[in-house]
Amino acid sequence: MVVTTPSVRLNNGVDMPCVGFGVFRIADEETTKAALTAMECGYRSIDTASLYGNESGVGRAIAGGSLPREELFVTTKLWNDHQGYDSTLRAFDASLFALGLDYVDLYLIHWPKPGQNKYVETWRAFERLYQEKRVRAIGVSNFQIGHLRRLFDETSVVPAVNQIELHLNFQQEQLRHFHAKHGIATEAWSPLGQGAALEQPIVVELAGRYGRTPAQIVLRWHLQLGNIVIPKSTRQSRMKENIDLFDFELTSEDLTALALLETETRQGPDPDGRDTSPRAGFSSAGGKWVANTASLDSTP
Ligand code: NAD
Repeated sequence: MVVTTPSVRLNNGVDMPCVGFGVFRIADEETTKAALTAMECGYRSIDTASLYGNESGVGRAIAGGSLPREELFVTTKLWNDHQGYDSTLRAFDASLFALGLDYVDLYLIHWPKPGQNKYVETWRAFERLYQEKRVRAIGVSNFQIGHLRRLFDETSVVPAVNQIELHLNFQQEQLRHFHAKHGIATEAWSPLGQGAALEQPIVVELAGRYGRTPAQIVLRWHLQLGNIVIPKSTRQSRMKENIDLFDFELTSEDLTALALLETETRQGPDPDGRDTSPRAGFSSAGGKWVANTASLDSTP
C-alpha cells in the first residue's frame, strides 16, 4: 500500500509533506536506491544536505524515478563553512548542480554557528535566492530563540521552518511554542532518537495496545504535536512503517504519558556550543559524530 502524506502549509503558502525521508549517513551510491525505494513507499519529501555528500545520489533518484519534479519536495542545507553572503550563493549553485535540479523546495542554514557571526548575512543571501525563485521556501536548522530573534530584527523574511533535534527525550517545548507564535514550522531531526526512543516501556506498551510498532507510536506523537518528521531507514519495511501513520490517533492521556519521557538530553551538539553530551560534536571531515567537544562544529 502506498500512503499519501498530508502536508503542512508553511508561512508563505507552500505545502510541505509532514513526513519526509532523511538521508543522513547514507553513502552517495546507496542513496539513489534508498530514495527510489522511499518514493515507491509514498515519500514525496527528501531531506539531504551538502554535508551528507549524497545530494547527487538524491538527484539521480529524482532523475531516474517516475515522479514529476513538482510532486517532490526537496530540502538541502548550507554547511557551516560556506556561511557568508557570496559563499552562500556559490554553495547553493553547487548544491543545485549536485542535485541536478533548477530549484529546491526548501533551503536551510544547517547550524547558526554564532561564533562565526555570519548567519545574518547568510540569511540575506537566502532572501535573495527566495526572491529570485530559486528556492520555494527558506528556513533554518538548529536555531535557538535568540538566533531567530536576531533574524527578525535584522532581516525581512521570517524562516518558514526550523529543523531541530526533537525526540521523546528532548521535546523542545519552549522552542516549539515560540515557532507556533511566529508562524515557523517545527521539523524534528532524529525523530526516533536514532532508535533509542523505541525501547521506552511506555512506547512498547502503547505499540501493543494500538497494534502498531514503537516507531509508529513515536512518529504519531510527533505528528499530533504538529511536528514535521524525517525518519531515516534504508530498510523498505521500516520505510513503509514510518509513513503509515494516518489511520490511528493517540489519546490525550497517551500524549501526557509520552511527555513524561522528557529528560532534556540532546544526542547532538548544542547550537550555542554548550554541549555536555558525551556524543557531542560533529566532524564534517569524517561525517561522523565524535566524542570530543573540542571539535564541536557549533562553537559560539
Ligand atoms: P532517526 O531518529 O530517524 O533514527 C534513525 C535510526 O533509527 C536508523 O539508523 C534506524 O536504525 C532506526 N530506525 C528507523 N526506522 C525504524 C523503525 N521503523 N524501527 C526500528 N528502527 C528504526 O535519526 P537520524 O537519522 O539522526 O535523523 C533523521 C534525519 O534527520 C536524518 O537522516 C537527516 O536527514 C536529519 N538530520 C538533521 C540534522 C540537522 O542538524 N539538521 C542532524 C541529524 C539528522
